[in-house]
Amino acid sequence: MHILVTGGAGYIGSHAVKLFLERGHDVWIYDNLCFGHRAAVPADRLIVGDLNEPHRIDQVLLQHRIDAVVHFAAFTYVGESVQHPAKYWQNNVVNTLNLMECLRRHKVARFVFSSTAATFGTPEQMPITEQTPQKPINPYGASKLTVERILADYSQAYQWGFAALRYFNAAGARADGSIGEDHTPETHLIPLIIQAAMGKRPHIEIFGTDYPTPDGTCVRDYIHVDDLAEAHLLTLEKLQPGQAMHYNLGNGRGYSVREVIAAVEAVTGKKVPIKEGPRRAGDPPVLVASSDKIQKELGWKPRYTDINAIVETAWNWHRAHPKGYKDK
Ligand code: UDP
Repeated sequence: MHILVTGGAGYIGSHAVKLFLERGHDVWIYDNLCFGHRAAVPADRLIVGDLNEPHRIDQVLLQHRIDAVVHFAAFTYVGESVQHPAKYWQNNVVNTLNLMECLRRHKVARFVFSSTAATFGTPEQMPITEQTPQKPINPYGASKLTVERILADYSQAYQWGFAALRYFNAAGARADGSIGEDHTPETHLIPLIIQAAMGKRPHIEIFGTDYPTPDGTCVRDYIHVDDLAEAHLLTLEKLQPGQAMHYNLGNGRGYSVREVIAAVEAVTGKKVPIKEGPRRAGDPPVLVASSDKIQKELGWKPRYTDINAIVETAWNWHRAHPKGYKDK
């Protein structure tokens, strides 16, 4: 396949690119490098461009005879989306629609979309299945759900085959330590705990210790970034014209913030300084996925099911690149 990967220089995108190349696909990365890293992808595969430049996208589609798109490019900070919703609707929805219209012009009708557990909001029943009602509670989740709905319409009207993959908590790094997670600002739990373990931060602050969970801290479902990458390839290879796929991607098991801290301590052999703080606005107490549907229908199976194994890959990356991609 000739695959265009938008946001392919970002965290999850770069892991997908690496896997697609290894499996023999012709991969082109379209990324404005606003969050992506040049060093995360092969230089001769990178096209630096923005999704608000339809002429540029048209050119790329033609030149590289693209027949499928994996769309990662988006803004992903929940808190920021509440402060600046316009930014999220513009980039995550309007720019995605720009891209989709380019694809329609060029008859590219295979599309894999990065969706998110945030489209579900705060469901009461766990685990979250594909039947769970989607009721986002912030503009980020709403923007992703809107794209899912637009895709359903395109699929019906224009016979697009698409997959909407709702990730739970993406974590870890390539086992060989070549690429990993490097966000500015970093807000994700595992890299922050590792940085605290390395002495690069004074402590990890636990956001809330009074949740109705066994140890009072939030429970999340951590899924390895390479397992996510596999799911993208699998759906891409199976998509048929007019087919709509919706899958939740997680491990089906939740870990509390305290359990994740314990995992980092076990893997690194270092004590992590902790500060207990108030809840972070908008955090549901528990989010755990059921990924039975993709396992049954496509045979996807996460390889990393143990939190220590996931943390270990993250630790390898951070240890080798204490300044992230600046060290490459
Ligand atoms: N969290 C925390 N301290 C931090 C960052 C995150 O206690 O400095 C908690 C957060 O409240 C959530 C979990 O860790 O329950 C995972 O947060 P993250 O931001 O990594 O992912 P999210 O679940 O928001 O997608």
